[in-house]
Amino acid sequence: MPTLTLPRWLSKAPAAAPPSRASLRIGIPRVLNLWSTHQFWMGLFGALGIDPRNVIFSSDTSEEQGRQFGKGRGTVDCCYPVKCISGHYGELVFGQKQKLDILFSPMIYTLPSFMSGHVARTLTCPRVMAAPENIKAGFLKEADVFAEAGIKYVTPFVSLDEPPLVPKQLFEGFQDVLPGLTRAEMAQAVGEGYQALQGFNDRLRRKSREVLEWCAREDRACLLVLARPYHMDPGIGHEIEVDLQAYGYPILWMQYFPTDPDLMDWAFGEDIRAGFIKSPFDIRDVWPSSYSSNTNEILWGAKVAARIPWIACVIRLSSYECGMDQPTYTPVQQIIERSGTLFFSFQDLDSTKPAGSVKIRVETITHYLEKYAREIIARKKAAMAPGCPLAQR
Ligand code: SF4
Repeated sequence: MPTLTLPRWLSKAPAAAPPSRASLRIGIPRVLNLWSTHQFWMGLFGALGIDPRNVIFSSDTSEEQGRQFGKGRGTVDCCYPVKCISGHYGELVFGQKQKLDILFSPMIYTLPSFMSGHVARTLTCPRVMAAPENIKAGFLKEADVFAEAGIKYVTPFVSLDEPPLVPKQLFEGFQDVLPGLTRAEMAQAVGEGYQALQGFNDRLRRKSREVLEWCAREDRACLLVLARPYHMDPGIGHEIEVDLQAYGYPILWMQYFPTDPDLMDWAFGEDIRAGFIKSPFDIRDVWPSSYSSNTNEILWGAKVAARIPWIACVIRLSSYECGMDQPTYTPVQQIIERSGTLFFSFQDLDSTKPAGSVKIRVETITHYLEKYAREIIARKKAAMAPGCPLAQR
């Protein structure tokens, strides 16, 4: 029997089989603009053959999460929604019963927005975009924590509002971690990601329209929340809107406000015909430097709140040290208050829920609503053109 030489023996040795995609476990920090793009990523990973049960999102932000998993790994950012990401990374690296293979934290440069094409740009906040690099530093200080845990850190730069660029950006980000990945496959998966995101957004907008139609039918007040998507995180927005909803007022989030042509035409048609704006999603009349996606949407939300009679009150949320929100405080408040709509702002939110002061303010808001909502709705109805499509059914 011939004896194998060393090179031949090595060539015959079975290569370590790459883990099949279905068994790969991908962790995603539930932070920042993942709150508005998660369905894109779920659609994408599903199309790439990842089992949805193996896509693990970190928990909602909490002080305990930060203490247990993020302590000692802080980096220089002082804005709270970025600072708390260390706890999310730590939870995904150290807090899983079953180890992850990949920690996925995209550097999102532009956001898909219903305002795209009507505004200058749809950029993310620079702190949001750079956060994956910034937070990573805290996990490389003494040693590469990801490598020690056998986790690949994947952080592709991605321009989500420029779909033609996305397949290339994500192929480059994933080619070393997803076995057998091809460019064509990634292009197909990106398409499915966009479809999933669109389907989700459409569903929520339809729900919001149902709420508004109910308010119009019953002549009842609802509240609109103007905030960044991550204020939906109970640890960032502190569920202030939930406390208000407990008093029986329906809550709408600006991100999922209905954008149906009939409603938009009723709300903005007059301004378009008068030449003040070019489309319902044009905000040049109130915010000419329309570069930042979430900021643009907040300004648009203020305009829409001013026009819809049943939005009797707007709740504005913003986080501690948010440089992007600072210049918007006055215009947003003025647009809303000049329409006679109630406006309440919770600024500088950070890790601790100021429970006592929130309780007092929630009681104040509901007191004002009980006293003035009917009058506000009637006044706003009188100021708008007849034929509101919300009141037709
Ligand atoms: S928009 Fe404000 S809160 Fe959000 S990351 Fe940027 S600075 Fe921080």
